Amino acid sequence: MKCAGPIDVRDVDESSINIDPIQVGGRLTAEAMKAVIAYGDGYSVCDNCRKPFRLDQIKTPPVDQFHNDLAAFLNMDVARVVPGARRGFQAVAGTYVKKGDPVLITALSHYTEVLAVEGNGGVLREIPGRENIITADAAASTIEEVNREFGRPPVLLFLDHFDYQYGNEHQVKEIIRVAHRYDIPVLYNGAYTVGIMPVDGKALGADFVVGSGHKSMAAPAPSGVLATTGERAEEVFRTTMTKTDKTGRTFGVKEVEMMGCTLMGVTLIGMMASFPRVRERVTRWEQELANGNLVVEALRSIRGTKIRSEFPRKHTLTRVDSLDSFDKVAQTHKKRGFFFSSALKDRGIAGIIPGATKVWKYNTYGMTRAQAEYLARSFTEIAEENGLTVG
Ligand SMILES: *Cc1c(COP(=O)(O)O)cnc(C)c1O
Repeated sequence: MKCAGPIDVRDVDESSINIDPIQVGGRLTAEAMKAVIAYGDGYSVCDNCRKPFRLDQIKTPPVDQFHNDLAAFLNMDVARVVPGARRGFQAVAGTYVKKGDPVLITALSHYTEVLAVEGNGGVLREIPGRENIITADAAASTIEEVNREFGRPPVLLFLDHFDYQYGNEHQVKEIIRVAHRYDIPVLYNGAYTVGIMPVDGKALGADFVVGSGHKSMAAPAPSGVLATTGERAEEVFRTTMTKTDKTGRTFGVKEVEMMGCTLMGVTLIGMMASFPRVRERVTRWEQELANGNLVVEALRSIRGTKIRSEFPRKHTLTRVDSLDSFDKVAQTHKKRGFFFSSALKDRGIAGIIPGATKVWKYNTYGMTRAQAEYLARSFTEIAEENGLTVG
């Protein structure tokens, strides 16, 4: 079946249990699906845009209220929607990073943080991990190293609460406390937290909280949120000061880092339509972890299979090493490494990279208990069918 021309209908999440780490938190709610059809046209949220002509001030639909709700949801003072977490990083880097400035990221930072710094000419230094956990001690010594090397502290620190590789939790609150002793503003990267578990920006002490709409807030891509404190809002959401030379035009309250307006149709409306459910679902994080643990235990019961993520798990994204189990099977199987993803596919499970049997990731977020049990059973059954020992 086709949508149009050569474009296939996509029904991965209707026809399968999807365990793709990056997709499960971004799947639209039914409310968002309906809303995006109505607001698919370009600039559709602009129907009722009135003075002072800025996205976050639109009253119909209630975009202004949504911005207040987002800030409250994250316990921050001011929020803006952005086209993806990465554009939030870029806005903050654009405000604080000048050519040659040292900026801290971590050994497990996402590449988009690297690009945001590079784009502004910053010089990156990484806080190393210990057993793939970023600690406050490591942050403190890295800040001191930067001090010695540059003669000044870093101008900004990017900190991922849970990283994309292991889904490990890092010492965000403690690291923020250390950074603030040096007056370093901290961007809390909640790409894998905002919208799936509770996040309290003030309690963490974060200067900036960034979330991804399409990764964790059941919203279309590209969407996200950048929230900040009242003090930092004046800097990162500064308005244009330009008066053009020949025509003498000025541009009111347009915010420079937001390029005036950001999400103008499906993305914003999708985020807004899903928001009531998103706000409610973060309270069920413990249940999500319980489902995740069920699957982790099943994998651990397959001899030779190791969980590379921290244990016990604090996130539903988990990294698995099956070099001594599924990868051993792959060496003699007629389908080679494809036997694994193909066996999963036969059971209606999608989202594992075809051919991957060595080190791979999966995410159980959003499953029912029955689906988690089914997934757990599928892993052990595939193992047993291929001569691996379970138990
Ligand atoms: C996915 C991800 C991003 C990028 O998010 P976008 O919303 O796609 O820009 C950034 N950081 C981390 C840790 C991620 O996992």
